[in-house]
Amino acid sequence: MCDSLEYAECRSAAKNCAMCGGKFGLIRYYSWRTALCSKKCLDLFRARRERDRRWLLQQHTVSQPPFSEGALIATTARVVARE
Ligand SMILES: [Zn+2]
Repeated sequence: MCDSLEYAECRSAAKNCAMCGGKFGLIRYYSWRTALCSKKCLDLFRARRERDRRWLLQQHTVSQPPFSEGALIATTARVVARE
């Protein structure tokens, strides 16, 4: 996937941090195949993703009956498990 030359996005993502755009030091952090330069950027990235996910879940569950909390947790666990 990402090894194709057509995926310029992937290549640039591998060269620079996805959060701050900075160059990598000795250690790279990964979240969802996204390379990040530091723990700080990793936290920021995860926080942003968490916000997006909650927003999506909110949209998804808003039309469901009140007893959907268990389903919501199950969905969250699945999402976390893929990470
Ligand atoms: Zn960074």
